[in-house]
Amino acid sequence: MVDATFAAPDLTTFARLDELGLVVVGQRLEPDRAVLACRVVEPDGWCRRCGCEGVPRDTVVRRLAHVPLGWRPTVLLVTVRRYRCAGCAHVWRQDTTRAAEPRSKLSRRAVRWALEALVLQHLTVARVAEALAVSWNTANAAVLAEVRRVLVDDPTRLAGVRVVGVDAHAVRHEALLFRMEVRDLHRFAVAAAG
Ligand SMILES: [Zn+2]
Repeated sequence: MVDATFAAPDLTTFARLDELGLVVVGQRLEPDRAVLACRVVEPDGWCRRCGCEGVPRDTVVRRLAHVPLGWRPTVLLVTVRRYRCAGCAHVWRQDTTRAAEPRSKLSRRAVRWALEALVLQHLTVARVAEALAVSWNTANAAVLAEVRRVLVDDPTRLAGVRVVGVDAHAVRHEALLFRMEVRDLHRFAVAAAG
């Protein structure tokens, strides 16, 4: 007998994409990664310059690394609509800032996952990058940007902290493994985490 508390299976909520303003419209499971085709839920059809209604012109695909399931990377291919204003000819794209920072290659969830993996689980940047199927530099830059954002948004988090260091240093030179540390250098305690 089916438990009444179960809801119908739903990939969008399972992957927590509803929080990002996205809905899953397709999946492709490859041996080494899962690809989810998504679209943006909010239409965003009104011109930001003159307020007229825009006409859908075409779409572009934004690729984002998302939280891996197990160690299998999850890739989002987000179809983003482009509009052209009927009044002033301004062209814009659907707003995807709920899903990711502008120009970011990682979803907001993926960035938070990476930060927690590094700070709380002590994974290396290399391992995090592998799980997200992005380059070391991409993972590193996204986490550093998130740390800066968290610290700016919530300065009280670091009340009493005098020096903050964000450092990726070699912990096993022969294997060239890197570990990122976000620490209160004064107390040697982790000061920023997800
Ligand atoms: Zn306009």
